[in-house]
Amino acid sequence: MIPYGRQNISLKDIYNVTKVLRSDFLTQGPIVDQFEKKISEYCEVNYSVSTNSATSALHIACLSLGLKAGDQVWTSPISFVATANAALYCGANVDFVDIELETGNVSTTELEKKLKVAYIKKTLPKIFIPVHFSGQSCDMEKIYELSKEFDFHIIEDASHALGGKYKGKPIGNCTFSDITIFSFHPVKIITTGEGGVATTNKPELNEKMVRLRSHGITNKKDYMINRAIDEIWNYQQLDLGYNYRLTDIGASLGVSQLSKVNKFVKARNVIATRYNDLLKPLALKLPLVKGMNYSSFHLYVIRVKESNTRVTQKNLFEHLLKNQIGANIHYIPIHRQPYYEAMGFKEGSFPNSERFHKEAISLPIFPGLKKRNQKLIVNVLREFFSSRLN
Ligand SMILES: *Cc1c(COP(=O)(O)O)cnc(C)c1O
Repeated sequence: MIPYGRQNISLKDIYNVTKVLRSDFLTQGPIVDQFEKKISEYCEVNYSVSTNSATSALHIACLSLGLKAGDQVWTSPISFVATANAALYCGANVDFVDIELETGNVSTTELEKKLKVAYIKKTLPKIFIPVHFSGQSCDMEKIYELSKEFDFHIIEDASHALGGKYKGKPIGNCTFSDITIFSFHPVKIITTGEGGVATTNKPELNEKMVRLRSHGITNKKDYMINRAIDEIWNYQQLDLGYNYRLTDIGASLGVSQLSKVNKFVKARNVIATRYNDLLKPLALKLPLVKGMNYSSFHLYVIRVKESNTRVTQKNLFEHLLKNQIGANIHYIPIHRQPYYEAMGFKEGSFPNSERFHKEAISLPIFPGLKKRNQKLIVNVLREFFSSRLN
């Protein structure tokens, strides 16, 4: 089976990880610091707070912005459930903004419409979480303008998008947001095993997230409540935090992988361009990358044409699996999950997201995908279309 995504681990990565296994620190230590510095440099941002997953990074990002029970968080239905769950962890309510079909990203037109209604009803969100679907940035400048007009915070869920660019700048630099989140799960652009990071330019958010990642504890005198602070071994718990720390083992893999991120993303773009060329003759909708974006192509998502009764998502998906091609569906809209339906969300609430879900198939894309395997995948698709013509 050719999977839809796969990590790319070199002998050098293995060597770098085993070096840590022989060192003094296994859990958070000097390599975590080093990894965070390198992420900040790469993303051209002031601070990076690494965590044991992107889910935990989303959680502490929401908390650091003061999210609490009764607040509203809006996001896209076309994401992994973790994006919305992070808001629920804080006791907040979740609502969604529908997507644009061409990119799978949230529609800023829909967002603006919904904000105007919420302004009148006094139900404006405290935080909006745009998701950079498949590695392509949402229109952040427009979202940022709306955030100034309607007074909400922005967390970019860039779990797919390390190495991508928006208007020439690296995703993660937070020019148009408070915080950006990346995931280092093995199917993502680079991996630390499990892991994530939150980037920000704001020192107060950085401090807060650093504390929340580790039990809410500080050992910095400047932040301590004035009590016996001259004792050098003193530490104080200031917030209710968690153990969300990344390990030095994971971070050493991260440092090693980050040195190859541009190569990985370039390889993904080569594969995507080749798919675009080879699949053009088939009756499929191919992914669109807007002119302002450079996508990291975490996913390559094709869509079947709605009017084509011979080639449906289901029969094409089954055909791929039968031929050992590990196609996948990204995503089941979050509001259609039983847990969310129990909160009152219904079929039909976000029509573009539901339609996207019924048309989309993710084809294999990862740096180690061989040209010959990609041609095999394309041939399987071609055969399917020609067998369905008559
Ligand atoms: C993978 C992913 C997450 C969660 O990442 P973890 O590191 O597995 O917690 C969140 N949001 C999106 C869009 C993702 O793809």
